[in-house]
Amino acid sequence: MTVETQKQTLGFQTEVKQLLQLMIHSLYSNKEIFLRELVSNAADAADKLRFEALVKPELLENDSELRIRIEFDKDAHTVSIDDNGIGMSREEAVAHLGTIAKSGTADFLAHLSGDQKKDSHLIGQFGVGFYSAFIVADQVDVYSRRAGLPADQGVHWSSRGEGEFEVETVDKPQRGTRIVLHLKDGEQDFADGWKLRGIVKKYSDHIALPIEMPKEQHGETKPEKGADTPAEPEWEAVNRASALWTRPKAEIKDEEYQEFYKHIAHDFGNPLAWSHNKVEGKLEYTSLLFVPARAPFDLYQREAARGLKLYVQRVFIMDQADQFLPLYLRFVKGVVDSADLSLNVSREILQSGPVIDSMKSALTRRSLDMLEKLAKDKPEDYATFWGNFGQVLKEGPAEDYANREKIAGLLRFASTHGSDGAQDVALADYVGRMQEGQDKIYYLTGESYAQIKDSPHLEVFRKKGIEVLLLTDRIDEWLMGYLTEFDGKGFVDVARGDLDLGKLDSEEDKKAQEETAKAKEALASRIKAVLGDEVSEVRVSHRLTDSPAILAIGQGDLGVQMRQILEASGQKVPDSKPVFEFNPTHPLIEKLDAEADGGRFEELARVLFDQAALAAGDSLKDPAGYVKRLNKLLLELSA
Ligand code: ADP
Ligand code: MG
Repeated sequence: MTVETQKQTLGFQTEVKQLLQLMIHSLYSNKEIFLRELVSNAADAADKLRFEALVKPELLENDSELRIRIEFDKDAHTVSIDDNGIGMSREEAVAHLGTIAKSGTADFLAHLSGDQKKDSHLIGQFGVGFYSAFIVADQVDVYSRRAGLPADQGVHWSSRGEGEFEVETVDKPQRGTRIVLHLKDGEQDFADGWKLRGIVKKYSDHIALPIEMPKEQHGETKPEKGADTPAEPEWEAVNRASALWTRPKAEIKDEEYQEFYKHIAHDFGNPLAWSHNKVEGKLEYTSLLFVPARAPFDLYQREAARGLKLYVQRVFIMDQADQFLPLYLRFVKGVVDSADLSLNVSREILQSGPVIDSMKSALTRRSLDMLEKLAKDKPEDYATFWGNFGQVLKEGPAEDYANREKIAGLLRFASTHGSDGAQDVALADYVGRMQEGQDKIYYLTGESYAQIKDSPHLEVFRKKGIEVLLLTDRIDEWLMGYLTEFDGKGFVDVARGDLDLGKLDSEEDKKAQEETAKAKEALASRIKAVLGDEVSEVRVSHRLTDSPAILAIGQGDLGVQMRQILEASGQKVPDSKPVFEFNPTHPLIEKLDAEADGGRFEELARVLFDQAALAAGDSLKDPAGYVKRLNKLLLELSA
C-alpha cells in the first residue's frame, strides 16, 4: 500500500455542506463560541492522548505537559489554537474534518425547514463543533500530527468552508494539532488578547488543562519590529485549569456548571438541572450529572451515543460509558470519576461486577432525585423536561422495577381535572384530589386527547366528580402493565372489565344495580342473540348516564394501543371480543326493549353496537352497512 502524500482536493460530505451553510448564517449573535468549540476539541484530544499513553507512554515523546495555546496576529488577522494532544493522521483529518460520523445526521438535516431562523434553533440540538470556525474565518488551516507517527507524517488540511478542502502531507515536528483561523473582514477584532482572554474565561475556565496565551507586555504581544528573530513568548495560563468536578461545590458558579455541560455534552444550550456529588466510604467516586433542556435528535435511535464520560482518578478513560445508568435515563449527561476502578478498565470489564452495579444503582437514584428536585423547585422547567423526555422516562417502570414507585412519582398525565390535554398532573396531585371512599386511581387510554376526552366511559365519573387520567401516548397501555400501585392505590382502566366503583357506590346503589341487571336479563339475551360471536357478553352498564351503549374491554384482553404495537411489530394479535353494555334508562334502549318486531329489533341493536364501537375509537368492520341501517331508521323517523 502506498501512503498518499500528494496534495488532494476533496469535497465535503453533503451533510457537512448543509451544516456549514446553516452555521455560518445562523450563529451571528453568538460568534465567539467558535473558540469554545475549538478549545473543547483540543481538551478532548489531550484526554485521548493521556488515555492512550497509559499503555504506550512513548506517545508522550518527552512532552508530557499537556496544554492548549492560543495566539493571535493583529496584522495578519489570524487566531490560532494549538494543542499537544493526540493529533490526527492524514486519514483521520479527512474523515473527521470532512464528514460527520453521527448516525442519523442525514435524517436530521433532511428535516430542516429551510427557514434559517427556525433551523438555527435546531443546530443547538446537533452540537456545533469544529465547523463553527467558519463563523469567523474565511479560511481555516489545520496542521496536525498523530502521536506516535514520525515528524514527516504531519497533515495540512485547509478549507475556505465552501464545499471543498485540501490535504497534503507535511513535516510537523510537534505532536498535536494547530488550527489557524484567517479572520473574515468584519471579524478581525477577534485578534485581540483582551478579547480572547475574556472569551476563554467566559466559556472555557473549567477546562482541566492550562489554556495559555502569551504574556501581554505593555498591551503588545509581538516583539519589537526589526528584531531579527522573534523571541519565544512567555506563556501564562488564562484559565483556572482544574477539573471542575474535583472542586468544592460551594465554589462553583452556575455559569461554570453550564459551560462545563456544553463541553461534555456537545450541546449548545444550558442544562435544566445538575447534581454534583462526592461519594466516600466503601466506594469512592465523584459524579456530576446533568439534565439537558432539549432532546437530541437521535434520542430514539438504538445506536445513538449515550452514557457518561468516565474518568479514573482524573484520567479520562472513555466517552459514552453506558453501564452507569439504565436505558430510560439515557438523556442524562455527565461525568463520573472513580477511585476504585483500574486505569486499564475496558468496556468488557465495565459490563458488570459489584463496583459497577452499586455505582449504577446510586447514580440512578441521584438522577431520579435530581428530577424530583427539579419538579418541586422549578415546575416550568420540569414541564420542559417532561415534554422532551417524558416518553423515555415512561420506559422506567418496566426496566427498573425496584425504582418504579419513585419513577411513577415523576410521571405526568393529562386528566379530566387537568388543563385541557396538557400532561401536567402528577399521581400525587391525583391522590390529593381523591374522593372519600375512593381507593383506586382511574385511567382511560386512547389515541388522542380529543378522541377520549368525551368518551362515554367517563360519564359515571363525571357525574360523581371523580378524576380520570387520560393516557394517549403510544407507550401508555404498556406502561400501565408495569405500574401496579402508587401510594398504596391500585390502578383501574375504566374501559375494562365489569366496572366496580367500590365504596364510591353506596349499598343502595349496588342493590339497585343488581335488581336492574336481573330485570333486564331477557333484553340482554335478545341482544346477544343478534350480535352473536361479535361480543363475549351483553350486560347492563353502570358506567353510563347519557349514552345508550358502550363497549368494554375484557379484563384480561389487550387494548387498542397494545394491539397496534403488536400488529406493527408483525406479531400475532390474540383474538378478543368486547363486552356490550347498555344503559337501561336510555330512551333508545327502552325503545329497543319494547320492540316486538324481530327485524327492527335487530336493525336497532346493530346500529347501537356500531355506535358503541365508534365511540370507543374503533373502526367498523362494515361501515357501509352501518350507514344504510342508520339512514333507514332516520327515514322512518321523518315518515
Ligand atoms: P465532536 O467534538 O462533537 O466530535 P467536532 O466537530 O468538534 O465534533 O470535531 C470533529 C472531530 O474532529 C473530533 O471528534 C475529532 O476526532 C477531530 N478533531 C477536532 N479537533 C481536534 C483536535 N484538536 N485534535 C484531534 N482531533 C480533533
Ligand atoms: Mg467538538
